[in-house]
Amino acid sequence: MITATAMDIQKIFTEKGIETDINQIETNLNKLINLGVPVEDAKKSVIKKIASEKNVELSAPSSNNVSIGEIYSIPPKKWVNVRIAVTNLGADGEKYKQRGVIGDETGTINFISSNNVPFTLEVGKSYLLENVITGTFYNQPQISLNKSSKATILNEIIETKAFTKSIEGAIVSVSSGSGLIKRCPTCKKVLSKGACSEHGKIDGTYDLRIKATLDDGENTYTILLQKELTETLTGIDLNRAIAMAADALDQKVVMEEIEKMIIGRYYRVEVTPVSELMIVKGIDSLTGQMINPLKV
Ligand SMILES: [Zn+2]
Repeated sequence: MITATAMDIQKIFTEKGIETDINQIETNLNKLINLGVPVEDAKKSVIKKIASEKNVELSAPSSNNVSIGEIYSIPPKKWVNVRIAVTNLGADGEKYKQRGVIGDETGTINFISSNNVPFTLEVGKSYLLENVITGTFYNQPQISLNKSSKATILNEIIETKAFTKSIEGAIVSVSSGSGLIKRCPTCKKVLSKGACSEHGKIDGTYDLRIKATLDDGENTYTILLQKELTETLTGIDLNRAIAMAADALDQKVVMEEIEKMIIGRYYRVEVTPVSELMIVKGIDSLTGQMINPLKV
């Protein structure tokens, strides 16, 4: 018996003027289905097999035009077209032709280009990339270029900006390692008990930061404020923090002071997600004038 699925498959090739054996299609389909492969997947697999046997290039699934920012909120494995500039390229790997970062005015994203991609991208140039696939790598959105992808150089220059999203919520806790900290001068890692995990006991350099948990009522986020935002939010600059620690003979006083200021208060933060960590790019207090509101 010939199924409708087999006829669908034959039709795809008939439309391209390619003859196929319907019984062979049915046999191949049945083999896969009997192995427990879902019909839709079996269909795709048979189409792919015939296409490669007959040496036909089937057009890629139709791709939508999207902004980079939109890719952060659509499910992975979508075929898309993007207008982007290349902001940097990583070292070439054996497994990949190129990898790096591309972006537009709504965000930046990592990309990876497989070995069969027929072109290379150059830093600083702007392109229309067609038929690229969205995905994730270590929880970070990523774009993959494949052999169906196309690149057209654009005359206009695409501006790029890191992706940010806005979250409103209350700070419910401040993590240890916040306030006045010391970093390894070589690798910038935060020292623990005066030692770097890589470089051993070392006289570190002071830095300020806040690592805290923000709760928006539905989810909790680990947010990180670097030195400048920590200083503006708390009014404690690095020199004052060092003086406070010296007076108290204890570095922890700075964190304790910060906890008193921010725990239980509401903020709107603009963040760039890096895996599970939300790097704060701007913060506004939603609870009046206790703390300097600011936006960077
Ligand atoms: Zn180090």
